[in-house]
Amino acid sequence: MPQDELLIDEVETQIYIIYGKKPSCHVYVIKGTNKNVLIDTGVKGNFPRVVEGLTKIGLKVSDIHLVINTHEHFDHVGGNIFFHETAFLAAHRFAATKIELQDEYVMHSAIHGEEILKVKSHIWLEDRLLFDIGNYKLKIFHTPGHTSGCICIYEPFKHFMFTGDTIFDKGVISKISDSGSFGDYINSLERLDTLKTNKVFPGHGSICEDPSETFTIAIRSSRQKLDDYKNQLLKELQDKKLEAKQ
Ligand SMILES: [Zn+2]
Repeated sequence: MPQDELLIDEVETQIYIIYGKKPSCHVYVIKGTNKNVLIDTGVKGNFPRVVEGLTKIGLKVSDIHLVINTHEHFDHVGGNIFFHETAFLAAHRFAATKIELQDEYVMHSAIHGEEILKVKSHIWLEDRLLFDIGNYKLKIFHTPGHTSGCICIYEPFKHFMFTGDTIFDKGVISKISDSGSFGDYINSLERLDTLKTNKVFPGHGSICEDPSETFTIAIRSSRQKLDDYKNQLLKELQDKKLEAKQ
């Protein structure tokens, strides 16, 4: 079924996906034993869908205690403004700095026709920090590459992972955006690939049921992309040298 027709699905016990309508990312809701967590908030205009999704599972906006942003891009943080008063908002410190300063060089709201919003971040996350919400544990892995402030959120006992824009189903790799790096990206993918993972919940597109294959394809194609770029540069350099000789 096309995703635009879907609003919300339970993807694990007490974990829900609220499908994002373009350009918004998906928003994930985790009903914890006594704390409720949202992963990413989408764009501002997607917020009515978030409210509708939350209502369907018996939650109000004020029932969300913690919002974790997977990175600083506009399509993942725009809805933060609706949680400023009632929830803690958390992002990796490299993302939080950009969110707090409305760093448009990296966040890219305006170039996508979106409002530049005064979104906030209250908690600066670090690699390997762990949230224990009772029925689930959420471990933060700093996975720079797509941007410098990207994180993936890993459940170390149930073995699933929320990846934001770091990796998508079928090994589709991310764009290396402003503040990102190919070297960091490959390293992040290789590091994630060492974790036992049964399912990947990305920020866009379908849920990945075959993470091992997905990581293999993504690592191979990102290495290839980097090699192709280096070879292209070398060729351009050689051509210039030949031209100079003539
Ligand atoms: Zn992104």
